[in-house]
Amino acid sequence: MNPSCLSDSQLSTLKREVQSLEEQLQADLEAEQSDKKAELSLVASSEVLDRAEAVNVAVGQQTVLSHIVQLEEEIIECRNALKRIEDGRYGCCDSCDEEIELNRLMANPVAILCVGCQSQYELHRTDNKAASF
Ligand SMILES: [Zn+2]
Repeated sequence: MNPSCLSDSQLSTLKREVQSLEEQLQADLEAEQSDKKAELSLVASSEVLDRAEAVNVAVGQQTVLSHIVQLEEEIIECRNALKRIEDGRYGCCDSCDEEIELNRLMANPVAILCVGCQSQYELHRTDNKAASF
């Protein structure tokens, strides 16, 4: 059930880490969403908005929206990590199946790639970005 080098106690520590991370993200997300609602009702209640103000509000909404998207993505990562713990796949690299270093998991409990694959992935992503310009 536990193919990785993690002991049961390490695994349950990491599981708690992921769960508290998820709770934290969920709380942040709710705070952001109520912020957004407050901002929207502010816009609706002000009758005249000059151009500069309108732009400011739009930029503010964009920032909040992209933050919400980011939080949602991180919550999904947490859920994936919890699922991997349940499935007994946690701690193995999603790409090469090697064990992910414990230090790395401690620093980032939702990591799904080992250091080697992660840097390959980032290199690849940077390449793609550069090519699309
Ligand atoms: Zn790997």
